[in-house]
Amino acid sequence: MAKLIDGKHISAEIKEELKQKVAELKAEGITGALAVIQVGDDPASSVYVRNKKKACEFIGIDSLSYELSEETTQEELLELIEKLNQDEKVNGILVQLPVPKHIDENTIIKAISPSKDVDGFHPQSVGALTIGQKGFVSCTPAGIIQLLKRSDVEIEGKHCVIIGRSNIVGKPMALLMLRENATVTITHSRTKNLKEICKAADILIVAIGKKEFVDASYLKEGAVVIDVGIHRDENNKLSGDVKFDEVEPLCSAITPVPGGVGPMTIAMLMNNCVEAMTK
Ligand code: NAD
Repeated sequence: MAKLIDGKHISAEIKEELKQKVAELKAEGITGALAVIQVGDDPASSVYVRNKKKACEFIGIDSLSYELSEETTQEELLELIEKLNQDEKVNGILVQLPVPKHIDENTIIKAISPSKDVDGFHPQSVGALTIGQKGFVSCTPAGIIQLLKRSDVEIEGKHCVIIGRSNIVGKPMALLMLRENATVTITHSRTKNLKEICKAADILIVAIGKKEFVDASYLKEGAVVIDVGIHRDENNKLSGDVKFDEVEPLCSAITPVPGGVGPMTIAMLMNNCVEAMTK
């Protein structure tokens, strides 16, 4: 039977460590505040924003909430970001994505000061990661590195295959695994022989966005499987990009959905917020 990589437990552990660190910084007179901007009232975004604010409260930093109407113009949003960039009390700025269609996501991401870019989406943050320099790292892939390390999965020298090349998961994941000295293969929708490539993986990271796409035929026996996908069915039941019941008996360790990668994203966002306090 595979070892279950427990994201719920590991994320709780990280948040406890951060709470302690924030208390120590407070004792030195250093405080933290995350500005969270939401444009429109998309229900899924509202849940994410609420959870981020709760996590701030838990670790002991302020969250400043900006709930803007769907009709907010790009100029108005840019003005607010610039105001927050200049505000010394604010050390992290997050714009909940997606933004309404009349606002250009890339323009918004670029407007956030790289020193406050706690989502790690700014081109400067991505560039720093690419050339191995210090900077904020996208939260989901950073969380996966923590899951592997804290579950004693060896990364160095292993062959890691990533399915998916998105800017928020697949690409930064590949760069982080490279930083950890893995040999990395990125696959995507145009990859030929996907199964054969996956079968060569010691660590298989799946971020496709297709429910239960990966079955046992993609796996080498003893591989470690990380399932990034999140799918909710009509009964509110969650599942991932991996057919868990079929894959689990074959691998040495696996993340469940829910309770695997999901809880790590907010924990790593909090980690970036604490890092921002000492910049
Ligand atoms: P995306 O849609 O931006 O990217 C999907 C990637 O999968 C693309 O690069 C595409 O080339 C690749 N792909 C699609 N079909 C394929 C196929 N048949 N074969 C091989 N590759 C294929 O998605 P994303 O934002 O990277 O998210 C992926 C999944 O992870 C989604 O289910 C999303 O909900 C989930 N997600 C979870 C978290 C979390 O916190 N756990 C965070 C981000 C995303």
